[in-house]
Amino acid sequence: MRHALNAVTEELRRLKTAGVSTVTVSDEAMVALRRVVTARKVGGEKPAAILPPVAPPPSAAPLRSAAPPPAPARAAGPVIPILPTVVVAALPPPPVVVLPPGEKKVRWEALNAQVIADPACCANLRPGKKVVLGVGSLEAKIMFVGEAPGAEEEIQGEPFVGPAGQLLTKMIQGMGLARGEVYIGNIMNWRPQMPTLEGREQVGNRPPTEEEMRYCLPYLRAQIEVVNPEVLVALGSTATQGLLGFKSFKVLGDVRGRWHDFGGKPLMVTYHPSYILREPTPRKKRLIWEDLLKVMERVALPISEKQRSYFLER
Ligand code: URA
Repeated sequence: MRHALNAVTEELRRLKTAGVSTVTVSDEAMVALRRVVTARKVGGEKPAAILPPVAPPPSAAPLRSAAPPPAPARAAGPVIPILPTVVVAALPPPPVVVLPPGEKKVRWEALNAQVIADPACCANLRPGKKVVLGVGSLEAKIMFVGEAPGAEEEIQGEPFVGPAGQLLTKMIQGMGLARGEVYIGNIMNWRPQMPTLEGREQVGNRPPTEEEMRYCLPYLRAQIEVVNPEVLVALGSTATQGLLGFKSFKVLGDVRGRWHDFGGKPLMVTYHPSYILREPTPRKKRLIWEDLLKVMERVALPISEKQRSYFLER
């Protein structure tokens, strides 16, 4: 339960940091939350967690949360609605990635084979969905790093193909490049699961937990090793937390627009494209664009006067 509530709190904090002051809550989510609150008030007993059952990976014996013990006998009183039991597989230690020698393509394919067969990645997928590794040129000078697959990405098995991805593609084109000339990855290889009522489809997104990010990080490091880009670009606060550390900054504004280091690679931090989707003002577009101009300078891409003045308000 704590896991689910932490996820909600983290997401609300993230939205607040990004300047969002109101959120819409679906009827289904309201029902689930009310049931939790009612169960707490009426019984004073911990309600069952509301994450859907997930099959544990073969090696993962311990469970983070299991079926609650049988309720103690009680005097007749109000009937407390019982929410579905949660069985969330504890993540095993992060994977060890051993890349074969040889060409980049051979090494990337070996990595991809390991990721899509990873039991923990597979156990955390929503039903029928795909594990997602990065895509793009293995000769790319620039590697973008996002947060986690969303609804479209987990269907197609490719990062950044939904609305945020379409905007990212436009940003890349604005830099004078084709999407296929850069490499695009994520911290996470699966779409983090959402609390839901039993039998219902999981709705929405939440940022990954620190543990989830720690689990997937070796796969991102391996992609960086294979592609060997000149620079990395972290998109948004979750990707930045994944790369620089969970408590490395208070608000993204404190670290964005500057060069950092990740494993010896220069890392530019900027906003996530979804920040612009929520509020597509020229000012916000210009903020990201200024960061991308720094990236272009660093990898010696030509910059025209027109590009320099994109999104400048006159
Ligand atoms: N947002 C991300 O951070 N990654 C994706 O792949 C899609 C949306």
